[in-house]
Amino acid sequence: MKLVVGNWKANGSRAVLHALSAAMAAEPPACEAVVCPPLPLLGIAPALTATTPLRWGAQDCSEHDGGAYTGEVPAHMLRELGARHVIIGHSERRRLHRETDVQALNKTRRVLAAGMTPILCVGETGEERDANLTKTVLRGQLIQLLRALGDEVRSIVLAYEPRWAVGTGQAAAPGLIDEAMDVLREVLLFHGSRRCGAVRLLYGGSVTAANAEAILSRPSVGGVLVGRASLKPDQFMEICRSAARRA
Ligand code: PEP
Repeated sequence: MKLVVGNWKANGSRAVLHALSAAMAAEPPACEAVVCPPLPLLGIAPALTATTPLRWGAQDCSEHDGGAYTGEVPAHMLRELGARHVIIGHSERRRLHRETDVQALNKTRRVLAAGMTPILCVGETGEERDANLTKTVLRGQLIQLLRALGDEVRSIVLAYEPRWAVGTGQAAAPGLIDEAMDVLREVLLFHGSRRCGAVRLLYGGSVTAANAEAILSRPSVGGVLVGRASLKPDQFMEICRSAARRA
């Protein structure tokens, strides 16, 4: 079954939450669907969709389990709120907050320890793509994590999000997505444990209701990570329908 993940970033509202919950209740998705709203909405979301297959997640977590870290939210508290997934290492966290691969590893461990699924984002910039560095960048972002996690890596979801495609309206072409997925599989199998074959690979970057079907039809793609289009319940539902058709 394909996985559709929505990332609302610092957007959304109670009204959008209620509209999406109502749409999901009217037409439960025949794919796996997860929405990651801002934290205050995550606090009220799970109760709204308890009878639907929609699951909720967070957009980030602290690398710490607790302590004097003002503004941080430990993974175990997200679990208590009802989160099942946590996005880790999103390109906006890496770019705007200077998050490193080591922090992504620490957060991934916290999420796993709290019994949730980390969705680890990796991807190259436009300059790196033009310099033929995609493979080098993806390998660099993953290698430490693969070595450190060992067999636990089978419990993560990996999202290929080329930075030049996130928020730009310029999705990667399906052929290019296939190439990147092949690179990820190769890195996973070469540097990870034998269990890496089961890791689910998502594509993210300007996915819409219009291009989702073409992207989800690629056998290499296990699902999509959707930003802006996930804020529009009708678009998100349509993407879920595309995913269900490609199950
Ligand atoms: C994202 O936020 O992960 C993302 C892919 O955004 P968008 O779909 O808007 O490009």
